Amino acid sequence: MPTSFEPATNPGLFDAVVNLCKRRGFVFPSAEIYGGIRSTYDYGPLGALMLRNVREAWWRAMIQERDDVVPIDAAILTNPKVWEASGHLATFTDPLVDCRNCKERWRADQIEDACPNCGSKDLTEARPFNLMFKTYVGPVEGDSSVAYLRPETAQGMFVNFLNVLTTTRRRPPFGIAQLGRAFRNEITPGNFVFRTREFELMELEFFVPPADSPRWHQYWCDERLAWYTRYGITSEKLRLRPHEKEELSHYSAGTTDVEFFFPWGWGELEGIANRTDFDLRAHQESSGTSLEYFDQAAGESYLPHVVEPAAGATRAMMAFLLAAYDEDEIAGERRAVLRLHPRLAPYQVAVLPLSKKETLAPLSRDVLHRLQRYFMCEFDETQSIGRRYRRQDEIGTPYCVTIDFESLEDQQVTVRDRDSTEQTRLPIEDLVPHLLGRFDI
Ligand code: ATP
Repeated sequence: MPTSFEPATNPGLFDAVVNLCKRRGFVFPSAEIYGGIRSTYDYGPLGALMLRNVREAWWRAMIQERDDVVPIDAAILTNPKVWEASGHLATFTDPLVDCRNCKERWRADQIEDACPNCGSKDLTEARPFNLMFKTYVGPVEGDSSVAYLRPETAQGMFVNFLNVLTTTRRRPPFGIAQLGRAFRNEITPGNFVFRTREFELMELEFFVPPADSPRWHQYWCDERLAWYTRYGITSEKLRLRPHEKEELSHYSAGTTDVEFFFPWGWGELEGIANRTDFDLRAHQESSGTSLEYFDQAAGESYLPHVVEPAAGATRAMMAFLLAAYDEDEIAGERRAVLRLHPRLAPYQVAVLPLSKKETLAPLSRDVLHRLQRYFMCEFDETQSIGRRYRRQDEIGTPYCVTIDFESLEDQQVTVRDRDSTEQTRLPIEDLVPHLLGRFDI
């Protein structure tokens, strides 16, 4: 339920994180040397690593640590009949209004009665605008070759329901999970990577006996909320918000959003919908193929109901960055630090030889190679050790391993903790188990 607690909005935090993302190579405006393309972003070296870690964290919780969910990876371009049956062609729309004065276009449900650009109240009536990107398959552009970039990954799981059922011999309750790119021609993208036209979705379709869907809906709301706290967002910045009746999508009997307190206020991270049998029924009718499950114990067939937690990976990454950003003072010096969960940080370990001198190189490389088998590591031997620690703090690297001249004698190294800045001397032999032991928190 929505909490009564309202943290203060914080535009400074938004600017600090956007700035850090650009400066350190998490996120770049797309095709910047050509002036970019509105609200489209490329993930740089650190962003690509972190986005992969967000996907991994989701995969771990939704697939690896369970015995009732299997993954698939469906095509982005598919038969357009899928989108006709799912209702996307007819109803996947946002209400669009034009400002007659400055010609800007807006989503009617996101503005008051005046144009946010010029203030004019001379707006057109709202009309439905379909958010799907249209393209053509093959060399001939015509009605028969029209296809759409998927606006969600869910339909790939519904149309493969039978294939999964027969090849894996699953029975409800069980889930199919998938993550990947999705495309929506958003009218007003913005707020950095919060809303973009190309983004990444992480979706689970959980098929259950019809009578059990309310229970499973509650179960997934609790599970998904716990996932965000497990990976470092404190609970006062998260809430579950059930949709009002008039807000519900055409397929939903009940939706609850997981919301995060963004610097501008509460915003959706994930929607958890009870989709009933809407999708399986629609595809069954449209394709003429029975999608019913035969329950041998009960001796009857039924169309399972579906509970769907649908999360944005790119939006989640932004929330994890915002939640992790902190500034403190170490020995009288201000530092920016990303207190990221070790599994989400772009690099888990930085290997830092104290000096660039040749004598340290072989041992430092040896330590690096040992660690690289388990962790994503950065190797940095330039500048003073203090500056190198600061650089790692700023990108969230939880552990720095320093090799000094004594290491050559005693085969020990120093491990420095990002958050406490505490340093521990350890035998090189013990490094991997020591660090692994600190990761599953
Ligand atoms: P909205 O009403 O804000 O347009 P939605 O309710 O249609 O979003 P869903 O279809 O429930 O969104 O999408 C599931 C998740 O996918 C969202 O919670 C969000 O994390 C992510 N998402 C949706 N649209 C975008 C987008 N344009 N850019 C980035 N992430 C998105």
